Amino acid sequence: MGRPPTVETDLRRIYHLATRRRDESRRFLRWLKYGRRRTKRQVMELQVELTNEVWAQIDCRECANCCAAMQLQLTAQDCVQAAKAVGLTTAEFQRRHAEKHRDGLWYLKAQPCLFLRDKQCSIYLQRLSRCRGFPYLHSNVLDNMAGTLEKAAYCPIVFNVLERMKAHPELQRNRRRSGGARGAAAK
Ligand code: SF4
Ligand code: SF4
Repeated sequence: MGRPPTVETDLRRIYHLATRRRDESRRFLRWLKYGRRRTKRQVMELQVELTNEVWAQIDCRECANCCAAMQLQLTAQDCVQAAKAVGLTTAEFQRRHAEKHRDGLWYLKAQPCLFLRDKQCSIYLQRLSRCRGFPYLHSNVLDNMAGTLEKAAYCPIVFNVLERMKAHPELQRNRRRSGGARGAAAK
């Protein structure tokens, strides 16, 4: 399997492929984490290189799928700022637009996010804290493998970075040598 020549941006196809390859991707991440062939720093360097490569070809303003697909967790500050943005008190905002989950945290009720307008964030400068830094590829994909697999199904950047990591020639060689590629799901 060679490196994918172009980035995949079709959201339906990404969802389909990421779902179909989920077990294969999980095995790859587990091998990367526990196979001990690369240090965490080396994985991070490759991740940064591939993220830059992929991100240069994707325009988030044409996508906005994370704003539609994520159920956003709200900090106390988010509730205050979001309430101001829609002209409500914090308590009224929480009553109308948020819900408290069993974990004791507040989440936006609406999916897509109520601040999304024509694929643009209407409160961009005051956007919610979970939106800042998304898709969080500044932190190692191995630190939250479940999160990486979940995001790969709806974020083109994460999907393409993960696919490129899986197809990376050096990693493939290492994996074959260590027998880590055995049982990979058929494409
Ligand atoms: S606050 Fe803005 S950036 Fe965050 S999910 Fe909503 S629309 Fe998207
Ligand atoms: S971060 Fe990912 S899901 Fe969000 S807009 Fe950019 S490519 Fe789309």
